[in-house]
Amino acid sequence: VMGQMMNQPLIVSSILEFAARHYGGSEIVSRRVEGDIHRYTFRDCHQRAKRLANALHALGVRMGERVGTLAWNGYRHLEAYYAVSGSGAVLHTMNPRLHPEQLAYICNHAEDQYLMFDFCFLPLVEAFAPHCSTIKGYILMGGKDRMPAQTVIPNLLCYEDLINAHSDDYQWPQFDENSACTLCYTSGTTGNPKGVLYSHRSTVLHAYASALPNVLNVSSRDTVMPVVPMFHVNAWGLPYSVPLSGAKMVFPGGALDGKSVYELMESEGVTFSAGVPTVWLGLINYATEHGLKFSTFRRTVIGGSACPPAMMNTLIDEYGVEVIHGWGMTEMSPLGTTGGLLSKHLALSRAEQRKILQKQGHAIYGVDMKIVDDDGKELPWDGVSYGHLMVRGPWIVARYFKDEGGEVLEDGWFPTGDVSTIDADGFMQITDRSKDVIKSGGEWIGTIDLENIAMSHPAVMQAACIGVAHPKWDERPLLVVVLRPGQTLDRAGLLAHFEGKVAKWWLPDDVVFTEHLPVGGTGKIQKNRLREQYRSYLLG
Ligand code: ADP
Repeated sequence: VMGQMMNQPLIVSSILEFAARHYGGSEIVSRRVEGDIHRYTFRDCHQRAKRLANALHALGVRMGERVGTLAWNGYRHLEAYYAVSGSGAVLHTMNPRLHPEQLAYICNHAEDQYLMFDFCFLPLVEAFAPHCSTIKGYILMGGKDRMPAQTVIPNLLCYEDLINAHSDDYQWPQFDENSACTLCYTSGTTGNPKGVLYSHRSTVLHAYASALPNVLNVSSRDTVMPVVPMFHVNAWGLPYSVPLSGAKMVFPGGALDGKSVYELMESEGVTFSAGVPTVWLGLINYATEHGLKFSTFRRTVIGGSACPPAMMNTLIDEYGVEVIHGWGMTEMSPLGTTGGLLSKHLALSRAEQRKILQKQGHAIYGVDMKIVDDDGKELPWDGVSYGHLMVRGPWIVARYFKDEGGEVLEDGWFPTGDVSTIDADGFMQITDRSKDVIKSGGEWIGTIDLENIAMSHPAVMQAACIGVAHPKWDERPLLVVVLRPGQTLDRAGLLAHFEGKVAKWWLPDDVVFTEHLPVGGTGKIQKNRLREQYRSYLLG
């Protein structure tokens, strides 16, 4: 017997349509690349998204075709999200921090038909446009006044002109919820980037789940600022979960330094935000230097790489900001687990609670996980045994775009490339990425633990631990450290700080002090570059 309920496809246009109709007055505020602040409502956003959908149709964009974007977080990018996917085409967000050759590779691989970009990326687009073979036209996301007098870009169109030239009389098409919705490429630290093609169904389910209290806990009373870029795994789903919750949305544009983020948070009353640790470092440094507090900021999700305990402690203890540790990846839309406490943890000491909050967290309904050893045998959930973390669920990749890399699943599970423990309560803790883990004399040393200890030293601002070649042990840990401005510390002083915190054989063999660490396009420390640089460091 079948159920007898309406069978409405889960497609993303329904989210914006809902927000416009039921939370129509909720605001969207953007710091524009033009430099000023722009504000309008979900109702306005919906109208402009429909105009854009009409414009794309007139340009010949059809169901399933890819349209690229190269843009910061802002209202026009949000319009593009809904106009492109909502009309049945596929939104392909690109990271402007990539090299022009990488961008050209990705555009060609995705077979993008159009590319929309913030006008500040004009020089970048001019650099790679001649190498893009499938793009029929480029759309500069701005007004006529921003159009260049001369450019090498063929068929350059003006976004605002397109919007003005088309009506908002548009019916979002209904189609199979399994149709492709957005395309995101992994950052490809090894080899070429691979595309992950999300469906409307996976995106809507992820949006529902991510708004839940155990996850991001977004409600209509929140003011949400996605600091995580909309080109980094769809800003962790916030462009969908915020409209469906009816919250106010604040976009920081390209101004992600501590001062700009702080000022926008204060002026717009941001209550909730999300981003990678490096962004919070800038914000905390700015607030500390200027003796500032947050008047509305209450909660943040930190993920993308491990949130250092020292950062979590500062935010909670000194600023009263609740920190939710989140873990996920491009292949997972991206959310997999989020941190938090169970009722039984409330009686624990603050220090014990902190240990739980520092774990990457509990699986979200929709994500199943397990850990296995090298032979694929499942390991116990005891909080100590560690192994390869495997996941499955309706918003997890089944295969890469164009079948790149062949079969990716193992027995129906996706191997995340992360190494972790899971405790008896289901809390997962990453010990390392399998490619970062150090193999010393055949035994594994987790680098995240060592980095966290280093960063708990008051003089240390950033630390990265890498495995470097060693004549006897194959690999040994080397710590690369950036000190806080004005602080001094030597090797012996830092290593003394490790005493009693780790087994002796885990102690880094040496410490390198440097001015800055290489950071990749999504704000993560590029350990592969450090490994190249210091590979022979211990060989003398
Ligand atoms: P890439 O894999 O190219 O860096 P992703 O954004 O997909 O791009 O990164 C996913 C990876 O980032 C995860 O597999 C994991 O190694 C790491 N990661 C994400 N969140 C966390 C976290 N909270 N703690 C530790 N590592 C994390």
